[in-house]
Amino acid sequence: MATLTAHTSPRRERYGVAIIGAGAIGSAVAMALGERGIRAALIDLDLSGRLSSSERNAGGVRATWWQPINIALSRASIRYYESIRDEIGFRQKGYLILYDDARWAEALRILPIQRDLDHPIEALTPREVARRVPEIDHLDGIAGATFSSGDGLINSNLLKAHYRARARADSAEFIDGAFVHAIETGPSEARLFCWRADAALTDAQVARMLTQDEPGEPALGRMIEIVADAVAITAGAWAPNVLKLIGLDSPTAAVRRQLCVVDSRAVTLERYGMIFDSSGVYFHNDGPHILAGYSPPEEPAGYSFKFDGEEFFQREIWPRMYARASCFERLRFLSGWAGLYEMTPDRSGILGAAAPRVFEAHSFSAHGVMQSYAAGQALADLIATGARGGGDARSLGRERFATGKLLYEELHW
Ligand SMILES: Cc1cc2nc3c(=O)[nH]c(=O)nc-3n(C[C@H](O)[C@H](O)[C@H](O)COP(=O)(O)OP(=O)(O)OC[C@H]3O[C@@H](n4cnc5c(N)ncnc54)[C@H](O)[C@@H]3O)c2cc1C
Repeated sequence: MATLTAHTSPRRERYGVAIIGAGAIGSAVAMALGERGIRAALIDLDLSGRLSSSERNAGGVRATWWQPINIALSRASIRYYESIRDEIGFRQKGYLILYDDARWAEALRILPIQRDLDHPIEALTPREVARRVPEIDHLDGIAGATFSSGDGLINSNLLKAHYRARARADSAEFIDGAFVHAIETGPSEARLFCWRADAALTDAQVARMLTQDEPGEPALGRMIEIVADAVAITAGAWAPNVLKLIGLDSPTAAVRRQLCVVDSRAVTLERYGMIFDSSGVYFHNDGPHILAGYSPPEEPAGYSFKFDGEEFFQREIWPRMYARASCFERLRFLSGWAGLYEMTPDRSGILGAAAPRVFEAHSFSAHGVMQSYAAGQALADLIATGARGGGDARSLGRERFATGKLLYEELHW
């Protein structure tokens, strides 16, 4: 850092909040701050989000969770998404979740809690599942299912673009090609030191910096300094690296997840939203194709974006899909990709004050897109109004990992 900071050119602007990471969460925070009259600077190594989880997700939106805080965050977000439905491609075709014996009793126990939180959800027998979704013709081992008509699928890029347009209209500034590698907080301000690229970064440069956490090469950029009243860390799976800059830990683990695009041949799932099978495989219609995912429990943590391709599809996804529906016999692998889940030990997000002048909202454990609106509002509320702000989301504070008041989310794949 010493050699890099020697060339630092200070920027004159002073912002209300400097937000580190401009994925769905950072962009939602910027919009929410703008609504409260607070000017934000959004800093990202790659605003186009090539490796960001907000770019590489499955677009699912559900309030079908078992932790009340997750139901509430998703419901509040869904109400907002309904108000901009066409702009963000929100298709409320529901979530069908199939349960085996081991989980069905718990799913039934949670139903009244979900309904109390304004989440429309019904319980189905296997026979009703077969009637509603005739494509599913092997229901062995299925004890029951839930169908939640308010859940659905979203275009996460359009959602992020919406947040950013709203934030820009409220004078937020977006700083692209900038990698934050030092943070100083003092009694009156916070200062960020960022390496900023002089030219557009290649895929390889973005990958090197985000997989090896390298601050960038002095020859290819220069240092800039950003001054703000406060800092918000919204760096997704990279939040632990950013928190380390102020001497804090985060229990977040970056875990690779892979999605496959499949040629569905004669089968169309156009009428349905997301379908989660008890085997752990999930799939939904995606334009002319099907998007399918599966999360192997043994996947090691790390910043890996390696996609295993057709071999992964044949080994993990196809057998599970075919075991549930014989019409999937001739599915053909087309393409796919890998991205990062940002997992906490209890699979709920982290949101709150991290240190004086430092706030955080990250590690939404694979529900960050769907909960981004409510998370952005809660963090902005906390920043604007102090400790009283944030509403129910205050329970997501990092303190819970020390006090043991965990929010363990069981309905997770
Ligand atoms: C395969 C897959 C499927 C998923 N499916 C769903 C789903 O169906 N529904 C759902 O809601 N969620 C889903 N998720 C999870 C969801 O994508 C994430 O929870 C969400 O995108 C996290 O958003 P974020 O803004 O916190 O992080 P990100 O979108 O990852 O953004 C973090 C940003 O921080 C930047 N950054 C990091 N370090 C620095 C630094 N030092 N300096 C500058 N910039 C930095 C990065 O460049 C990045 O743009 C899925 C994820 C994956 C991988």
